[in-house]
Amino acid sequence: MAVKGILLLGNPILREKSEDITVFNNELINLINDLKDTITDFQQRKKIGRGIAAPQIGILKKVIFLSLPNRSFALLNPEIIWQSEEKIDVWDSCFSFDVAFFVKTKRFKSIEIKYQNEIGESKKEMLKDDLSELLQHEIDHLYGVLATDHLKNNKDIILREEFEKRYT
Ligand SMILES: [Zn+2]
Repeated sequence: MAVKGILLLGNPILREKSEDITVFNNELINLINDLKDTITDFQQRKKIGRGIAAPQIGILKKVIFLSLPNRSFALLNPEIIWQSEEKIDVWDSCFSFDVAFFVKTKRFKSIEIKYQNEIGESKKEMLKDDLSELLQHEIDHLYGVLATDHLKNNKDIILREEFEKRYT
């Protein structure tokens, strides 16, 4: 269990596709604990952040860890199985941008996902609004896609300090 370094924008590993989890063993539990320690450390230092994906610590496996105010859990092999027609505009940032800036993205307002938990049980969940956009961001990481790839207008980018003055 350890706080791991987070790979930053420009690191080519962030652009690789992750592998499915097929074995639910201690190595997986160690990876989940590393993600948990790393996001907890980042949240304490940066006062922001809700989710982390394994590629961000250099492990190309389909593992996401969410650390929400009332719930912390790992999602393995997550997939979007339904998405709403309705979309929302979201100012999105990323640990891999060091949360130094935000980009405006369009995300599905609601999604249904399936995933496995840390002991391999299959789960399904409907998510909307902030959780929907969060999972879309994290699942993108498993396919080498970053929030900046969703930038449609190159004026839709803002530094964190300016973002916080205007939008929080
Ligand atoms: Zn991210």
